[in-house]
Amino acid sequence: MSIKDEDVQRMSQALKSGAKLTSEVCPVCSSPIFEIKGELWCLKCNKKVVKIREESEIADAVLPYTLNNLSAVVVEKLEQLSITLSKLTDPSDIKNVADTISALLEVLSQSESLKEKLRK
Ligand SMILES: [Zn+2]
Repeated sequence: MSIKDEDVQRMSQALKSGAKLTSEVCPVCSSPIFEIKGELWCLKCNKKVVKIREESEIADAVLPYTLNNLSAVVVEKLEQLSITLSKLTDPSDIKNVADTISALLEVLSQSESLKEKLRK
């Protein structure tokens, strides 16, 4: 896309009034991005540019919280199930609950070891 004279004019005007040219380019039109009063602007689109972080970065930031929540939920369920288990007398009911507890412990163990890995 070509940069029109009026765009160039707007950019040079912005620079004169204290805008800073950054090394970023607009994701829409590939024009250079200007920093004006702490905000990023594309003067060709005449729009504020919100920098979106890489998706993997977001996932890395969110995952520990998700795992913490997961562990907490699993622990809560385990507490409830152990109470349930203590009241059961029928062997097949006991087995059902024990299987569920076993599956939850597996989830908890995976969640904890994943958290351990992320800390490194
Ligand atoms: Zn643009």
